[in-house]
Amino acid sequence: MSAPNNSYDPVEVAALRPEEVARMRDHALEAIANARNLAQLKEVRLAHTGDRSPLALANREIGALPPSARADAGKRVGAARTEVAEALQQRQEELEAERDARVLVEESVDVTLPWGRRPQGARHPITTITERITDVFVAMGFEVAEGPEVEAEWYNFDALNIRPDHPSRTMQDSFYIAGGSEQASGMVLRTHTSPGQIRSLLQRELPVYVVVPGKTFRSDELDATHTPVFHQVEGLVVDEGITMAHLRGAIDAFVTEMFGADLRTRFRPSYFPFTEPSAEVDMQCFVCRGASVGDPTAACRTCSSEGWIEIGGCGVVNPRVLVACGVDTDRYSGWAFGLGVERTLMFAHGVEDMHDIVEGDVRFTQAFGMEI
Ligand SMILES: [Zn+2]
Repeated sequence: MSAPNNSYDPVEVAALRPEEVARMRDHALEAIANARNLAQLKEVRLAHTGDRSPLALANREIGALPPSARADAGKRVGAARTEVAEALQQRQEELEAERDARVLVEESVDVTLPWGRRPQGARHPITTITERITDVFVAMGFEVAEGPEVEAEWYNFDALNIRPDHPSRTMQDSFYIAGGSEQASGMVLRTHTSPGQIRSLLQRELPVYVVVPGKTFRSDELDATHTPVFHQVEGLVVDEGITMAHLRGAIDAFVTEMFGADLRTRFRPSYFPFTEPSAEVDMQCFVCRGASVGDPTAACRTCSSEGWIEIGGCGVVNPRVLVACGVDTDRYSGWAFGLGVERTLMFAHGVEDMHDIVEGDVRFTQAFGMEI
């Protein structure tokens, strides 16, 4: 700041001369007009209105003028600063509007663009069909029971009346857990879901109404109709006064719910160690309903034109099984029913090769839809 100037001599304060103030103002207005974005405008604001800006410095010089000259100079500088401030404000609004318009364009979502190509997974039909079967029994009042896949021989064989010399207990048929010498561990990968019956009878209060879905293992080679790892769903009822008629009724209800109304079922005599009497269960073919039998022009792939489809095995629970589980056979009786999930999937959906089921190609799975 210059020393006080008591004799009026505006020439000594060059910064306050009208043409100099006008030059500073014009310089500032030009810079404001040339600011291309908000960041540049911020720099212009600092340079032309900040404490060290030419107009701010000039404003400080007013005090150096003789009192009579201060009002004039003050008006001049003040008007210039106001003009600059207004121009800044106007440019600020223009640039903000431009930025907002640009953001709207840049951040808008084009809903017509192709979506991400990451392939979607799908639930395996073995899972969904297992749940459908299980749900039918749950709707009839059954509870779901599950057991371990590595099972003690006693649960898998002995308690189910499968004697030590039964062929299914050989290593040709069953996977044993290593334990020193052959079969010495006494542990086997369960060959059926039937040990779930034993565990349910030992763990639950009678009466027992359970459905046991699960993974099972047998030492088969994988081919079109066999797989060493497969799935079963087993049903077990133990209550007072249970007869084979109840079994027949439950199976009819299951077939109606799963495959449609008015399909007949039939029992064919069979043998299982854990049921007596035992039967194979057939249902009328849900595609041709028997119309293909003896009619070469109406061949049916689903039932091979036999009119019937085998859906599982069943029987009245052998009293030896109940005794092994400590059930009073004078008071209680029961029935059991089991079906293979892979087999059900094959005839229900026309799957012809087991490889398709086990190989995990998502295209196979997706053909069954995205059912959840
Ligand atoms: Zn048929």
